Amino acid sequence: MRDVWDGSYDRGMTSNSQRRVLLAKPRGYCAGVDRAVETVEIALEKYGAPVYVRKQIVHNVHVVRTLEERGAIFVDETEEVPEGSIVVFSAHGVAPVVHQEARGRNLATIDATCPLVTKVHKEAVRFAKDDYDILLIGHEGHEEVIGTSGEAPDHIHLVDGPGDVANVQVRDPDKVAWLSQTTLSVDETLATVRALRERFPNLMDPPSDDICYATQNRQVAVKQMAAGAELVIVVGSTNSSNSVRLVEVAKEHGADNAYLVDYAAEIDEAWLAGVTTVGVTSGASVPDELVQGVLAWLAERGYGDVEEIESVKESMRFALPHELRSVQRPSGPGPRLEART
Ligand code: SF4
Repeated sequence: MRDVWDGSYDRGMTSNSQRRVLLAKPRGYCAGVDRAVETVEIALEKYGAPVYVRKQIVHNVHVVRTLEERGAIFVDETEEVPEGSIVVFSAHGVAPVVHQEARGRNLATIDATCPLVTKVHKEAVRFAKDDYDILLIGHEGHEEVIGTSGEAPDHIHLVDGPGDVANVQVRDPDKVAWLSQTTLSVDETLATVRALRERFPNLMDPPSDDICYATQNRQVAVKQMAAGAELVIVVGSTNSSNSVRLVEVAKEHGADNAYLVDYAAEIDEAWLAGVTTVGVTSGASVPDELVQGVLAWLAERGYGDVEEIESVKESMRFALPHELRSVQRPSGPGPRLEART
C-alpha cells in the first residue's frame, strides 16, 4: 500500500487481467458516528432494552436495523417515547425545544450529538447573542439544519446553495455571519460563501471550519481516487448527506459514473461494462463490513486486485456522552458494529 498517492494513473485498459479496485482511505465511520453508535450499544448493555432513539442515530439503514435487532426503538418525535423512559438523541443534534420536551415527559436523555455539530450550535448562539443575521448554508429539512436553526430561530436564515443567495433577506447587510452544515460539499460551500460575500462584503466567517474533518477528508480521498477510476461505488444510504456528496464529488473529479448503494446486492452488473478500474469508498456512517461485502462482490467478477489509496491519516476519537462516561470503552478507534444475519 502507498502511504500517499501522487494522483497519477493511466485510464482506459479493459482486459480482465488489469481489472482492479482503488479503495479510498479514509472512508467509513468518523469519530462522531463511532461515538453515537457506541452510545446506543452501551445504553442497551447498561439499561437493557428497550432504549429509545430519537431519529436515526446515524443515517445508515444497516446500522439502524442492527441496533433495532438489539432492542433499540427508533422514533421520530419525543412525544412517541413513553414517559420516564431512556431516549438517545442522534449524532445530528437537536434544537433546545427537544430537550424541553424530554424534560416535560420526564425522560432520561443521553445526548449523542457529535461534538462538531455542538460546536456549530454554540457558534449560532454566540452570533445570535451579538444580534447578527446568521446565514446557515445547508439542506432544507436535514435534521442537523433543523437542530442548529432551533438554537436561534429568529436570527438564522437557511441558504441552500449558491442559487439561493439572491433570495436572502437580512436586517442589516453589514451585520451578517455565515455558518454551515457539517456534511456539505467543500467546493460548493466555498462557491456559496463567495456569492454571499459579493452581496455582503462585511460577511463574518465562523471562528473555524464548520464542514467537519471527516467530510473534508472523505472528499479529498474520493477526488484522488475518482481521477483514476471509470466507475466509483459509494457505500452509504440515500439520506446520508456526506455519502450523497461523495457521489457528486466523484463525478465532478473524473469518474464516468458514480453510484450510491447500501449493500453489494444493489450493484448493477451493467455498471461494470468496459470498466477497468472501480473506485470504492463509503460515507461517514457506514461500517466497513459493508465495504468488504462490495469488495467480495467485485472480486467474484474479476476485480480482486485491490489497492488502498490513503490520502489523509485520521486518528480522531471523541469521549462518550457525559451520561455514560463511567463506562469503560474498548481501546482503539474503529467500529464495533458486527453484521447480524
Ligand atoms: S460526519 Fe462529521 S459532524 Fe457528522 S458525525 Fe461525523 S465527525 Fe461529526
